[in-house]
Amino acid sequence: MKDILYCPRTGVPLTEVDIDGIHIEISTGCGGIFFDNFELQHFDEEHEPAGNKLLDISSLYHSSEIDFSQRIKCPKHPLVVMRRHFFSPFCRIDIDVCPECNGVWLDPGELAEIRDAFPKENIKKLTTERYISEIVASGGWSEHFENVDEAHLSISRISRMMVWIRD
Ligand SMILES: [Zn+2]
Repeated sequence: MKDILYCPRTGVPLTEVDIDGIHIEISTGCGGIFFDNFELQHFDEEHEPAGNKLLDISSLYHSSEIDFSQRIKCPKHPLVVMRRHFFSPFCRIDIDVCPECNGVWLDPGELAEIRDAFPKENIKKLTTERYISEIVASGGWSEHFENVDEAHLSISRISRMMVWIRD
């Protein structure tokens, strides 16, 4: 039998919902959503209908009595405090991630924010990629790196850091 998971904000048992064959845990106490490792990728892009269905369900359960600044523990690992970090270097919305299982907790509203940010995020990503290929194409890497793969890896790492810092 499957373990019951509990909402890290309100303590209510999480309710499993089936969205297009993917099982997601939702809190009826606060509207928060728990995604297992990599599950979020089915829902985070604006054009994915699964995300709309999930938003509809989550919006049924709102509570105004929750302090969302409180750090929370992973529903699957009740002893592990989830880390807060940006959804991606391109999308600076704070999410809670379990360092143990990579599960993601989204508070109400965060999925909508991530989906709204998606087009902008995509533009930034494409701009960065174009910048990288221009450097690689110019051959400017050759005096610093052994080969083009190494150059590409290093430049993309640096430019990702630049995106973090820039705005
Ligand atoms: Zn976990």
